[in-house]
Amino acid sequence: MGSITELENYAKIHKIPIIQKEGLEFIINYIKKHKITKILEIGTAIGYSAINMAQTDKNIKITTIERNETMYGEARKNIRKFGLEKRITLILKDALDFNDEDKYDLIFIDAAKAQYIKFFEKYKKNLNKNGVIITDNLNFHGLTKHPEEIQSKNLRALVNKINNYKTFLKENKEFQTEFYQIGDGITVSKRKGE
Ligand code: SAH
Ligand code: MG
Repeated sequence: MGSITELENYAKIHKIPIIQKEGLEFIINYIKKHKITKILEIGTAIGYSAINMAQTDKNIKITTIERNETMYGEARKNIRKFGLEKRITLILKDALDFNDEDKYDLIFIDAAKAQYIKFFEKYKKNLNKNGVIITDNLNFHGLTKHPEEIQSKNLRALVNKINNYKTFLKENKEFQTEFYQIGDGITVSKRKGE
């Protein structure tokens, strides 16, 4: 039997950036409210968010992509512990190299922050009508407000990329995005006119 608390403890000890409670609650409510059943997740880590989403309803099916082999191994073990291997399909691949023809009600982007625009552009074709793309970590732990004050060059570059993604969403002609100050900052993007 799997235990959610055990996953949370594991993530804490190993410093794995699983979604914050508030953000998870928001997504779960969204899934329930909109009766979402097909989900694509980019960035599995240890499977914490995928397992939580899958447990929302027994009709939910999730495909989740992870490029790190150690994370993939952990996720596989955890998904099995929860008896969810039939409903969660785990893929060991870089999401930018994976090609999927399936359509989803919800695409959850939660992987390398620098690649958010690329993930969005690549996977928008996999959305069902009325489907949404949800992104996590738009606040990046509060760092995105004043990038000029960040000492580390790499970190500053990353924060600038997240801010570019925000601009990309704000100015997007095809998608309308809502920004929520929940958890570490969450966005919900829908095709305009749907
Ligand atoms: N969604 C998880 C947390 C994911 S952490 C949860 O909330 O429980 C981000 C994960 O994305 C890391 O494990 C990292 O290895 C993976 N990742 C980053 N870039 C990726 C890419 N291009 N393709 C696939 N996985 C990626
Ligand atoms: Mg996250």
